[in-house]
Formats: sequence, structure tokens, C-alpha cells
Amino acid sequence: MARFAYVNGQYQPYGEAAVHIDDRGYQFADGVYEVIAVIGGRLLDEIPHLDRLDRSLAALSILPPLSRPALRHILRETLRRNRITAGILYLQITRGVAKRDHPFPKDAVPALVVTARRFKGASESIVSAGVAVVTTQDLRWHRCDIKSISLLPNVLAKQGARAQGAFEAWMVDRQGHVTEGASTNAWIISKQGELITRSADHAILNGVTRLAVLAAAKRLGLTIVERPFTVSEAQQAKEAFLTSTTSHVLPVVRIDQHPIGNGHPGELSLALRQAYLHQHGLLSGAFR
Ligand code: PMP
Repeated sequence: MARFAYVNGQYQPYGEAAVHIDDRGYQFADGVYEVIAVIGGRLLDEIPHLDRLDRSLAALSILPPLSRPALRHILRETLRRNRITAGILYLQITRGVAKRDHPFPKDAVPALVVTARRFKGASESIVSAGVAVVTTQDLRWHRCDIKSISLLPNVLAKQGARAQGAFEAWMVDRQGHVTEGASTNAWIISKQGELITRSADHAILNGVTRLAVLAAAKRLGLTIVERPFTVSEAQQAKEAFLTSTTSHVLPVVRIDQHPIGNGHPGELSLALRQAYLHQHGLLSGAFR
């Protein structure tokens, strides 16, 4: 089926869609992005995603290329033209095209690209088996709260995980604390039943799913502690899981070969997954 991408004001055939070689996204990774899940034709948590996009743009002094209503229209039109009701939307805004030079160009126009593709979330068999993570040094900068397209450390971390047969890499800061996954947020449940996740400082991306799961945990009456945790604390935890737009809530059953709890997805992790799916009207399962 024909696919289309929105590029700077036009819907172009996907195979031909292109940006200029002097786009600052290409030259400097000078841009930001969002990934939004689409299920049953609905954009999940669209407003928090667009709010975070605005925060990322503001942090880099990139002016939004369009008003929010215009952007929301383009997101829907991209879905419609690609006939996608279940999948993911990707949108990227860069500072635009300019002669390669580090300072902000005076006259560049921010560039917007939107693509959509079909995507099925983690299968029930993956959820019921749980996933393995490995730990790796966090090589990133000090503004991981900005959803920048500069993802090389995340790419290297994820590739390292996959090379070891793991689903995700949990990145570890200089103090020995887990920051987050290469593309997910990291959580543990202590033996006392406390839900622990790092607070949303500059060392992590404040996941939209993270916020939804915190809200779900509050409703379930769990004790929530937002603080850093070490790798060994995670390995000794009763349960562990990760969250993201594309994974929702996924139980973690191994960290660096060390089984978590009894080596099977934990009860509270699965309860939080259910609560998250319920809250988003998805109890029949992800992306179906
Ligand atoms: N951390 C990082 C580094 C990510 O790339 C992502 C995915 N966007 C997340 C966390 C999870 O964020 P969200 O729940 O908004 O998808």
C-alpha cells in the first residue's frame, strides 16, 4: 500500500520524501521528536505528548513551525493518508536548513516531518514471559529531559542489549544509579512493596507513560517513591518493569543475568499494566 510522509507542508510518497542535506537535524542533531501511539484510530495521550514537544522546543529555542491545531490536523491527515488506525506516529522538528555553522542561523525555518506506520505492541506472550535488561554506562549529556533527536548513546546502549539477547539496556550514572532505559523508563518494586522510579530530573526523559503509570499507581493506593536506585537494589527487588509509549508496561524478569523475584512477571507490574490499559480504554490488548 502507498505510504506518505508529511515534509514541510507537503504529503510526499514515502520512498521519495526527503529533507535538505544542510538540515540542522542531519548536520547537528539539532531537533526534537515525539512518538505517539495510535490505537483504534485514537492518539494516545496526545496532549501530554504535544506539551512535552513544546517544552523540548522551548528548551532549544526552536519556534514551533505550526500552531497546535494545525499540527494536530497534520497528524490525523498523515494517519488518514496512510490508512493507519493502529500504529505509531513519529514527528520531528529541526531548526531547519542553513549553511553549516554551529550558532543558531538567523533565517532558518524550523522543519517538520511526520510519518506513520503500523505497529503492534508487545505480544501477550512477551508480556507473560517478561523481558531481560542489561546495564550499561550512561554516556549521555545533562539534559536528557529534552526529547532531542541526538540518540547515539541510546542507539549504542540498545544495540549492546540486543547483542546480549536482552530487550533493553538500563543506563547507569556515575553514582551507580539507574537513570532509565535506552528508550523506556525504569521501575522497581521493593520487598516492602514500594513503587520506586527515578524522579523526573534532567537525567531522564519524563515519559508520558511514566506519568500515566504514576497516576494509576496512586489510584491503586501504592506507596510511590521517586528516587534513584542502584543496580544491586534493582537486582534484589521484588519486581521490576519498564514503561514507554510503545511497550506500555512491560515486566522485567532479569537484570544482567540476575533473576528478579521468582524470575516471572510480578503481580504489581501486571496490575499496573492492566490499570494503564484500562485507563486508556485498551483492555482488549495493545495496538489491536
Ligand atoms: N526514556 C527515553 C530515553 C525514551 O526515549 C522514551 C521513549 N520516548 C522513554 C523514556 C519513554 O517515554 P514515553 O513514555 O513518553 O514513550
